[in-house]
Amino acid sequence: MPEFHLPEHFETYPEARKKAFLTLKELKEQGHRIVGVFCTYTPWELIEAADATAVILCGVGDDAIPAAETRLPQNLCPLIKASYGLALTDRCPFFYFSDMVLAETTCDGKKKMYELMSELKHCHIMQLPPGKTGVKALEFWKAEVVSVKEDLEQFYGITITDERIRQAIHLRNRERKAVLDFFEVARLKPSPVSGYEINTVIAATDFYPNLEEKISYLTRRTQELKDLYEKEYKGKPSRPRILITGCPTNGVMDKIIRRIEELGADVVGFENCCGPREKKDPIDETKDPITAIAEKYLRVNCSVMSPNPGRLEALDVQIDEYQADGVVEVILHACHTFGIESYNVKKFVTEEKKIPYLMINTDYSSGDQAQIDTRLSAFIEMLS
Ligand code: SF4
Ligand code: SF4
Repeated sequence: MPEFHLPEHFETYPEARKKAFLTLKELKEQGHRIVGVFCTYTPWELIEAADATAVILCGVGDDAIPAAETRLPQNLCPLIKASYGLALTDRCPFFYFSDMVLAETTCDGKKKMYELMSELKHCHIMQLPPGKTGVKALEFWKAEVVSVKEDLEQFYGITITDERIRQAIHLRNRERKAVLDFFEVARLKPSPVSGYEINTVIAATDFYPNLEEKISYLTRRTQELKDLYEKEYKGKPSRPRILITGCPTNGVMDKIIRRIEELGADVVGFENCCGPREKKDPIDETKDPITAIAEKYLRVNCSVMSPNPGRLEALDVQIDEYQADGVVEVILHACHTFGIESYNVKKFVTEEKKIPYLMINTDYSSGDQAQIDTRLSAFIEMLS
């Protein structure tokens, strides 16, 4: 049975970040535009259309959390504290090199943190409607998309044409397809790619400033993995297959994703913002570009939306497509929206899909690793 393995010359996420930092420094010195972003609701196409590079500012380690806690409450999501702490202490090169930040009012913690972040750098904060189906939700959100375009134009002293937005939509749709194809390699059984590699590669390639390079890297790796499946995996027994759901996992990749695989199961899919959540849903290239962008991002299945039935529908499809034997839900401390949704997620997974479910509530520290390992081991044993 295949074991947890990583490819030769595997680049870890911290290594990829370090390399990206050097690339970004060069771009900045050449006068390139850089915009910091946090969330899946961000209309990246407008940043692309402004000839700027988008960089992810989500904090993934706990080093800067004590600094953040001098201003933010301790019982707040680690992603929010880590992101703010890095900005506050000037230890995030990506925040440092960003000309401005494009943020959004998703959960309460994030939106209030952005108010403090605005004291450090120009933050354009998009107001998200509380639900996607509410009266005038789309109209409201479309106006917010327009306000991003206008702010980018004013900030950089440029004009963003519809033609340029259309080109950016086309390019990002191609990128979406390349990312989705890479994710879907893990639908093969047994999977020729570890979930740890998937999580790392997807997070690391978000730092590629050149999207054509990202597309060609992912296309090449996808083909290599498909060939590897034919040569070494096809017909062999599979380890238990796990689908991850819940909060973003970039900050707990080693603590949870890698550990699941070291303990004997394969992480084959992600129903979270580190997975194909928005990649499966391209932007309509036949419509007015601003309307198409607004419609697309309003469809994101995040727990900050109320109601959010699309998430269970996505889980339903992904459990089948990825042939999952069990679901592990990762809830970051004090994430109320995903925490509350976990009740219905558990019910759906165990009662409708009739497979086991485990919820892990954690943060970015290593203090609970032993306890997590014990729970994961028992869960995997149950699936074996
Ligand atoms: S989980 Fe929600 S708030 Fe967090 S990045 Fe995804 S869409 Fe944004
Ligand atoms: S994980 Fe939850 S609390 Fe943390 S930023 Fe995302 S939605 Fe907010």
